[in-house]
Amino acid sequence: EYVNINELFSHVLNRFDMMIQSNDKPEKPFVIKREFTKRDLWVEVDADKMIQVMDNIMNNAIKYSPAGGTITCRLVETHNSVVLSIADEGLGVPKKDIPHVFDRFFRVDKARARSMGGTGLGLAISKEVVQKHGGKIWLESAENVGSTFFIALPYVPYEEDEWE
Ligand code: ATP
Ligand code: MG
Repeated sequence: EYVNINELFSHVLNRFDMMIQSNDKPEKPFVIKREFTKRDLWVEVDADKMIQVMDNIMNNAIKYSPAGGTITCRLVETHNSVVLSIADEGLGVPKKDIPHVFDRFFRVDKARARSMGGTGLGLAISKEVVQKHGGKIWLESAENVGSTFFIALPYVPYEEDEWE
């Protein structure tokens, strides 16, 4: 199924925007900033599965960040892929733990994680979904600075002037 990834990502972010705004007394609401390419990118994906991945990473960005931070969401195109990224200003992940965050049941700081709820499966499932699409998922993070999750999906650019 070819999906307009700009629309799909927007749709997910709109939902998070509504959630944040309907949050009873947001002393300091999160700000979701979008930096999207203007070109519509049609990518062959399972829309429901990709929504699940975006939801999980957005939920993490909110869960592991103090309120009031900015979450910057980007969509860019390279010569053979589209790259989505979600950057937060939260707790970050210690360098030694970065290679493990996509492992099943792995959670940074067990005690802290237990008080936050969750199973530690979100990112393992996300990785599985992205890999099934022939894509890659990775994390860049610094403790107490923030985390950026990247998702690259294979993409064949559509040549608009092909018939000229
Ligand atoms: P759930 O199954 O509900 O998603 P979870 O959020 O703990 O539980 P994952 O989404 O797989 O599980 O994330 C694994 C761990 O990686 C988290 O427990 C957390 O320690 C760390 N982590 C994930 N995203 C972030 C983030 N944006 N900032 C800081 N730490 C993060
Ligand atoms: Mg999670």
